[in-house]
Amino acid sequence: MNNVNRRDFLKLTGSSVIGLTFGSVALRANAQEQVALDNPTAVALKYVHASEVDGQNCDNCQYVQGEKGKEWRPCAFFPGKVVNAKGWCAGWVQKAG
Ligand code: SF4
Repeated sequence: MNNVNRRDFLKLTGSSVIGLTFGSVALRANAQEQVALDNPTAVALKYVHASEVDGQNCDNCQYVQGEKGKEWRPCAFFPGKVVNAKGWCAGWVQKAG
């Protein structure tokens, strides 16, 4: 390998590593983490993955976000995490409409 080829090879390898790194960060950002029951906010709000309160669950709460029908959805109270559509917490408020 002469000098030019080696430089090109290193450039290519370097950008591939950067591409892979950004790629996995993007993947991680998309696959949001399910909120843990021992998350301090979850504990404070008594969050559970399965509601025990009739007619109240994350799916019909005003604070749930994302696409209806998904099992796990983002919630305004848990930035960067997802809550179970059948879950519940003390912050539950009937979704308007
Ligand atoms: S505020 Fe509580 S009940 Fe409402 S979506 Fe979030 S975790 Fe579920």
